[in-house]
Amino acid sequence: AVSVHRAYKRFGERQVLAGIDLEVPAGQVLAVLGPSGSGKSTLLRVINHLEQLDAGHVEVGGEPVGVRRHRGRFKELGPRQIRAQRSRIGFVFQDFNLFPHLTALDNVAAAPVATRRAGRAQARERARELLGRVGLADRAEAYPRQLSGGQQQRVAIARALALDPGVILFDEPTSALDPELVGEVLAVIRDLATSGTTLIVVTHEIGFARDVADAVVFLDGGRIVEQGPPDQVLTAPRHPRTREFLSRVL
Ligand code: ATP
Ligand code: MG
Repeated sequence: AVSVHRAYKRFGERQVLAGIDLEVPAGQVLAVLGPSGSGKSTLLRVINHLEQLDAGHVEVGGEPVGVRRHRGRFKELGPRQIRAQRSRIGFVFQDFNLFPHLTALDNVAAAPVATRRAGRAQARERARELLGRVGLADRAEAYPRQLSGGQQQRVAIARALALDPGVILFDEPTSALDPELVGEVLAVIRDLATSGTTLIVVTHEIGFARDVADAVVFLDGGRIVEQGPPDQVLTAPRHPRTREFLSRVL
């Protein structure tokens, strides 16, 4: 489960998160929609502590992120503890971010080896299994530049899975893809949605959100303007900003 409580974040003069409250129960899929600059990426980045909040806090699996409670107050965690926490939260980026000098297999095996979760042989065996799960069993030895965008993104998803995270965050995972490659990546995410992992997916794919998400939030100006089941938010939005946004992306 992921909870965000009264989250505030500003960059200079700009209030990017202006009091976000969010609950994603374990195993559920949340789709996050909103116009450019509304704070979607920042929200994901505070969930795995790539950005620090000015106020409020985040919990993942019941544990406060980036801080610990000490005599009723929050104290900043050290870098090692932050890394350990982050390893329980997968992150899939718009532009894949694979290691260009490693094969698909080694991209997936790298983190378990680096964090000593697994020996090299064991990590590679698991990586092979995960590549199979995303439909890339036959491309294990390919380098990222030898793969299509859709294939690279599927490797990135396998890599995120390699540390068995309870939560995976997706930041517009299909926005950099040619239209004909979007479906294969969404199919993999759809498959994950039924696997018990908690997913938060920033996306402009309204059809996907409608089919796969348990809940949808619409963000504007760092605030949640509207949230609810996809049927309601996407089909019968109450807020004029949501309606206007949907009329532009649909
Ligand atoms: P997009 O759809 O374009 O990806 P977004 O909803 O993900 O937009 P964010 O990336 O969260 O929006 O950014 C929200 C605002 O915060 C933007 O105005 C952005 O310029 C600003 N911002 C984000 N990160 C930083 C930073 N590190 N320093 C300064 N400003 C930032
Ligand atoms: Mg963004």
